[in-house]
Amino acid sequence: MSGNGKPRIIVFDLDYTLWPFWVDTHVTPPFRKGKGSEVVDAHGQVIKYYKEVPQVLKELYTEGYELGVASRTSEIRGAYQLLNLFGWDKYFKYKEIYPGCKVTHFSKIKKDSGMDYKDMIFFDDEDRNIRDLTKVGVLSILVRNGVNHACVRDGLHKYDMKITQRLQRLASSTPGR
Ligand SMILES: [Mg+2]
Repeated sequence: MSGNGKPRIIVFDLDYTLWPFWVDTHVTPPFRKGKGSEVVDAHGQVIKYYKEVPQVLKELYTEGYELGVASRTSEIRGAYQLLNLFGWDKYFKYKEIYPGCKVTHFSKIKKDSGMDYKDMIFFDDEDRNIRDLTKVGVLSILVRNGVNHACVRDGLHKYDMKITQRLQRLASSTPGR
């Protein structure tokens, strides 16, 4: 009964989830390509992401998951610029980037996708966001040192377990004949 529970949509926070800084505080837009494939800010500071992120995004996208971003940064233009310069634009179908409680971001993704909250999984580094989205029924995973293969694998396993448990509960509450 296990192994078939997969989310339809995987949503990521940006700051301290896909990259190790606050885009509105620690770096200075506008961003641009530097030498080679580097991305730099207005001061020429090289902008890094968590190193497994490009491969993780590519694999999830290739496996057929729909991917989304939910960020409450006030540096909206800078965040979009980085997604573009890192070459991640092509992976994200949903981009909700603006301040405020992330329940708003997810209600937009729900509306645009026609999916339910239970069809989504969410990765974020902040407790408050995890709490808010757990309340509405999105399986929400706290990310401690940025997104990598291991934390995404663990999250997808938790999702599968959640679906399996729900099915078992349903099966056991159905009266026998
Ligand atoms: Mg964050």
